[in-house]
Amino acid sequence: MAEKLARLGLVTDADLLLHLPLRYEDETRLTAIRDAVPGVPAQFQVEVVSSEIAYRPRRQLVARVRDDTGAMVLRFLNFYPSQQKALAAGARLRVFGEVRGGFFGDEMIHPRFRVLHGDEPLPDRLTPVYPTTAGLSQAVLRKLIQRALEKADLTDTLPDTLRRRAAEADFGASLRFLHQPPPGMSLAELEKRTHPAWRRIAFDELLAQQLSLRRAYAARRARGAPVLAGTGALTKRLLAGLPFRLTGAQERVWREIAADLEQPHPMARLLQGDVGSGKTVVAALAMLQAVESGHQAALMAPTEILAEQHYRKLAGWLQPLGLEVAWFASSVKKKEREAWRAKVSLGGTPLAVGTHALIESGVEFDKLGLAIVDEQHRFGVQQRLALKKKGQSAHQLTMSATPIPRTLAMSYYADLDVSVLDEMPPGRTPVVTKLVEEGRRDQVIARVHDACRAGLQAYWVCPLIEESEALQLKTAQETYERLTAELPDLSVGLVHGRLKADEKATVMAAFVKNEVQVLVATTVIEVGVDVPNASLMVIEHAERFGLAQLHQLRGRVGRGAAESACILLYAQPLGESARARLKIIFENNDGFEIARQDLHLRGPGEFIGSRQSGVPLLRFADLEDTQMVEEARAAAEIMLRDYRQAADAHLARWLAGKEELLKA
Ligand code: ADP
Ligand code: MG
Repeated sequence: MAEKLARLGLVTDADLLLHLPLRYEDETRLTAIRDAVPGVPAQFQVEVVSSEIAYRPRRQLVARVRDDTGAMVLRFLNFYPSQQKALAAGARLRVFGEVRGGFFGDEMIHPRFRVLHGDEPLPDRLTPVYPTTAGLSQAVLRKLIQRALEKADLTDTLPDTLRRRAAEADFGASLRFLHQPPPGMSLAELEKRTHPAWRRIAFDELLAQQLSLRRAYAARRARGAPVLAGTGALTKRLLAGLPFRLTGAQERVWREIAADLEQPHPMARLLQGDVGSGKTVVAALAMLQAVESGHQAALMAPTEILAEQHYRKLAGWLQPLGLEVAWFASSVKKKEREAWRAKVSLGGTPLAVGTHALIESGVEFDKLGLAIVDEQHRFGVQQRLALKKKGQSAHQLTMSATPIPRTLAMSYYADLDVSVLDEMPPGRTPVVTKLVEEGRRDQVIARVHDACRAGLQAYWVCPLIEESEALQLKTAQETYERLTAELPDLSVGLVHGRLKADEKATVMAAFVKNEVQVLVATTVIEVGVDVPNASLMVIEHAERFGLAQLHQLRGRVGRGAAESACILLYAQPLGESARARLKIIFENNDGFEIARQDLHLRGPGEFIGSRQSGVPLLRFADLEDTQMVEEARAAAEIMLRDYRQAADAHLARWLAGKEELLKA
């Protein structure tokens, strides 16, 4: 039993209290069989006329029942011998479920039923139905929750002054109301999540989240970190040597980061900027400020392709300033890596770039001042933890091209400071998005041909096959062979996740130099690849991709002066959500708007799933209720300042036993 409860996250009494009904059933009334409405759940009181096991079309238990007004059939496709026994002729039952018109008249399939012994009064309140798991019955859960409700401490943790402001209902009263709705309460009224009792619980949940994240934030500010005040010597030279000027947004964000680096406690900042907004140069400036202050800086990226692009770019910018950049990736020969490692650990090299090889090959920095992680959500949990440990007292900057909608930033990400690059470098041409039915792929191939003959380049992204990596690889190989055959006068290349790092690098280098015109790729090119001359992106089976992925992929083009297009090939029939995704990506270019609609489509759980290692998800609160999120945030601040004990009690109630998760 304890194991089953634990599976639902129910360990303490408080957990049971906060395990709230999914919905309610009205067992306070009986419906006559004659009055049954198809598809509407109702309760009947009946007598079994006969029951038997039938074998057609498959083994099933069929019981004929009646009341004073009519008769119907109860049908069970799976059943226990005990159920068969209970349905003996003459037994009196209360049955709950939906009636349907079947071949042999009215019937109920798998109704919930209970045998009556003597006169049992009807319950006077609605019956809660709880989320549960296999082998744990509603009856048992209900009993446990009722017991917890009687003995647990229901003291309101929200101070009166805040309660009047934010959420009027009392905590204990709200819980009792939801677990044991008062007699006469209507189903419709109770299931509306706008009821004050529901709102109070939602508010408490948000408050707990805000309290824990703000505490984490405060704890970080209490730790020490090197002051990286910088001298401006190197950053000025970098800026002077760039072929462009920073955008206003880059200037602003750079100032925010620079100010953080000067603080004596570790920065934890997220730099958000749409694909192509120019995050790399901001990272380079931050790294230089660390170096100016006598410290080292490291930049880590989730894939070898991406890490190598960073490495080349940074080396290109920084070597002219006389700075050496160490390079760590699995493709780097062991001997060479050893040499870099030795240099880095002695402080001989101020800068390091790499994949997770950077943390895994045992590199010990002499004086690490700043650790930057690009596209952090693509790293595994273990790697993120290792990274966090490594950089305990270093400043941390994470960069992401997946925009986080405002309410998410205010809730799940409240432990971070956020900088946003909301302006694109000038001279970009907007990407035109086209939806093309698969049957017209010949036209698409012709278009690729024309573009490449005109000196441009194209990506051809292979379908995502989630169930099987092998199949995905096979498809990529086939697409490559087909395009090679159909475009004989062009050079076609192929990259996928299974290529060895140096093979991958060779193909990418050829693409960068325009020796390869069409690059067939799996989603390995999803993040960060920067080839301005590529102006055409074809995505096959676009309906299988998520919105963030589509937006990322599309962001690979439109980086140069040429007019760019993204062609989304799709196959009919389209499911409802695939259709919704394609419509959103077709109509929107702004990553923030896409992310907002994505959040709306999928809910926050899915959205942040890739970032989080296990932060408890919100169960009751609705992140689209911006006002409530803001109120919870304000309340958390006041509680941490003026009502510390209440804050402790609130956190204990909501997050007891889950604090560890929050730290990951
Ligand atoms: P992302 O934010 O997606 O990582 P990058 O840093 O790769 O974007 O920048 C995309 C491209 O824009 C690069 O080629 C980069 O050199 C260029 N770039 C960055 N900032 C500017 C700017 N202010 N003006 C012109 N081009 C810029
Ligand atoms: Mg980038």
